[in-house]
Amino acid sequence: MNETKRFKCSNCGEENPRKLHEEPDKTQVLYYSMQGAPVYKKRIKCGNCGLVFDKAQ
Ligand SMILES: [Zn+2]
Repeated sequence: MNETKRFKCSNCGEENPRKLHEEPDKTQVLYYSMQGAPVYKKRIKCGNCGLVFDKAQ
């Protein structure tokens, strides 16, 4: 079962999940995987206005 989280851009109000792209925030490493690859914190970028915001808001 897929859990679809809904996000909303606080700048333009965009709610379309196809427009809100999850991307890694490479300034914030959460942890390193067992292979040694960094796992970054995820953030959301609005495809409509370009605002980048945290998932946890
Ligand atoms: Zn927006």
